[in-house]
Amino acid sequence: MSLTVVDHPLAQHLLTRLRDVSTPPPVFRTLAKRLTIALVLEAVRGLPMVQVEVETPLERAEGHLISPDLVAVPILRAGLGMLEAVTELFPEVSVGYVGLERDDVTLQPTSYYEKVPPLRDRHVLLLDPMLATGGSAAGACAKLAERAPAEIVFVCVVAAPQGGGKMQREHPDVPLFAAALDRDLNEKGYILPGLGDFGDRLFGTGPDSGLPPLMR
Ligand code: URA
Repeated sequence: MSLTVVDHPLAQHLLTRLRDVSTPPPVFRTLAKRLTIALVLEAVRGLPMVQVEVETPLERAEGHLISPDLVAVPILRAGLGMLEAVTELFPEVSVGYVGLERDDVTLQPTSYYEKVPPLRDRHVLLLDPMLATGGSAAGACAKLAERAPAEIVFVCVVAAPQGGGKMQREHPDVPLFAAALDRDLNEKGYILPGLGDFGDRLFGTGPDSGLPPLMR
C-alpha cells in the first residue's frame, strides 16, 4: 500500500489531542487544521516544482514554486475540516467539492454533490480525514479520475487497514498520507482506536451535543 504515515512528533502530538474524547469542537477544529498542515507538507513533496527567478533586495536568485495547477477537493462533510489548512498554505489553490453517500440498494457510494473545477492535467489533493472502509475515498477517486487529472494525492488523518487495502486495489496510483494507520473497524464502520465521528466532533453534532453548559 502506498501509505506514508507522517510520524513527525508534532503530527503525533496533534493526533493524540484529536483522539482525546475530552477535546471540545472549537479545539478539535484548530487541531485538525494544524495537523492537516503537517500532513500536507509531506503530501506535496512529490508534486512538480516550477523553476523561477526572483529579485532579492541584493540580486537575482533562482527559486522553486510548487506547481500552480493545484486543486483541493474535500469530501463532504468531514473533509471541510482539512480545507482551510490547504487554502492558507496555497492561497491560489482551486477548490472543488464532492459529496458521496451510500446507495441503499447497490450499497455503492453515489455522488449527491459535485462541484469541481477543470482537472485535466492538474494535481489534486483529495481531503477526507477518516479512511475507514475506503468506499468514499475510492468512489471520489473514480469520479475525479473521469476528469483526467495528472495525479490525485489522498490526505487523511487516520487510515484503517480495510480502507488502505481498498485504495490499493482500486487506485494503486494514488499515494496516501495519514497521521496513523489504526488497527481495525468496528461493526459500524468506525475506526479503532480512531477518534470517533470526525464530522460530529468538528461541527458539534454528536449525540451529546446541545446547548453549551452556560446556556442550559
Ligand atoms: N468516519 C468517521 O468520522 N470516523 C470513523 O471512525 C470512520 C468514518
